[in-house]
Amino acid sequence: MSDTLLYMDGQWVAGSKGRTLPVIDPATGQEFASVAHAEISDLDRALECSEKGFATWSAVSGYDRGKVLRKAAEIFRENGEETARMLTREQGKPLFEARLEVARGVDILEWFAEEARRIYGRVIPARAPGVTQLVVREPVGVVAAFTPWNFPINQTVRKVAAALAAGCSIIVKGPEETPASCAQIVRALEEAGLPAGVLNLVYGVPAEISSYLIPHPVVRKVSFTGSTEIGKQLAALAGQHMKRVTMELGGHAPAIVFNDADVDTAVQLLSGFKFWNAGQVCGTPTRFLIQDRVHDQFVEKFTAAVSKIKVGNGLDEDTKMGPLANTRRMEAIEGYIADAVKCGAKITTGGKRIGNVGNFFEPTVLIDVPLEARMMNEEPFGPVALIRSFSDIDEAMAEANRLLYGLASYAYTRSASTAQQVAARMRAGMVSINHQGVGLPETPFGGINDSGYGSEGGIEAMEPYLNIKFVTQANAS
Ligand code: NAD
Repeated sequence: MSDTLLYMDGQWVAGSKGRTLPVIDPATGQEFASVAHAEISDLDRALECSEKGFATWSAVSGYDRGKVLRKAAEIFRENGEETARMLTREQGKPLFEARLEVARGVDILEWFAEEARRIYGRVIPARAPGVTQLVVREPVGVVAAFTPWNFPINQTVRKVAAALAAGCSIIVKGPEETPASCAQIVRALEEAGLPAGVLNLVYGVPAEISSYLIPHPVVRKVSFTGSTEIGKQLAALAGQHMKRVTMELGGHAPAIVFNDADVDTAVQLLSGFKFWNAGQVCGTPTRFLIQDRVHDQFVEKFTAAVSKIKVGNGLDEDTKMGPLANTRRMEAIEGYIADAVKCGAKITTGGKRIGNVGNFFEPTVLIDVPLEARMMNEEPFGPVALIRSFSDIDEAMAEANRLLYGLASYAYTRSASTAQQVAARMRAGMVSINHQGVGLPETPFGGINDSGYGSEGGIEAMEPYLNIKFVTQANAS
């Protein structure tokens, strides 16, 4: 794989001091590529050209912006297999997941290509004759976006496509650990004819880049996906400079299985989704709350399903779960499991590293996990399911809503009344009942409370990139 460069003013360039950062294959622990490291002077250049890019792009009609996005979707699809392989190599996820991430990237580009021509305003009836009152929406300006390593394509394309559809220009600080697949989005847009300066890509030291870009007067909007801890720091900084912000942060999703649920379906869907991307997913089910009469049956079937998950190098076609993306996650997960066991939790499967080459970890199930275990309170972000039993819906909802996180949530029940109660009482940005239905381009995607604010899906995803302007005009006498 070739090394990843910075992209600014329509050119791929090295950092001005020629510095690079290593890219490690999580399946082998070996460095296999590098990514350019931006200096402050490179950020200045990105800011300057994105300001010019905004002037160019905001003057292009929504219809024509959509054409560029649609063309980029085609190119991204054509290069899909190459991109999927890059993604697996640098991030670890199995090829089938990488291919689906590429396909979802195409889907997201196509959705926003259509939305570009639907940025409607409205006419408000006036009180006086001869007066016209208009509400118009205009692009906010230059966006600074910070995207993480768990979904290097999708977390980036959601921000880029929405910003470009709205008529903004954007500087993306991509994920240094997984830079090449993210850069493929930029390549597709470049080839599709996006004018120079509209989209710029930088890598480097995250804190250095965010602390320079966020306060900078050229930047008018900030979008971040990552941990709650960093999100709070960046939102505070943006607040000091009155910048608009979208925050897509951590989660700790409850998955409630009621006595009347189709347990086999719940086991099949939850065991698949929990270990998707080795559990490094903000919306992954984490706290499994199983009602007392089906608890033992669920634990037995879920444990059996999880113990069959084939862990291996993501490039092997039969791998179902790849390595964790970095050594930080290995250490964190080991610490969390040791703490939970010390608190009284029992392991029904997994619990350990696999081998000593690469970041391989066993898919793990813990039962009877006490509430004081750290993992019941902090986002584990790894391949661990935490199971507890409950007796009635009030107890389940109290636990589901106990934490300040509020991103995704799941429930399984055959009762329409229970489903309605869960939907009404759940304090979360997304509630998915009897299936895994979160994350489509056309549906809202985002959290509340410590999980952040703003939506990155559906028509709602355009709003953060648009200012509202009210224009009132009377006939000249
Ligand atoms: P981290 O908190 O250091 O970093 C999380 C992300 O934020 C990374 O992409 C990182 O590059 C970026 N980041 C860190 N400091 C930054 C700064 N000052 N300015 C701008 N960006 C910054 O932790 P990590 O080890 O990389 O990831 C682990 C934690 O991050 C997990 O516990 C999980 O909660 C969270 N995370 C969430 C998502 C998500 O999809 N919401 C994605 C990745 C990581």
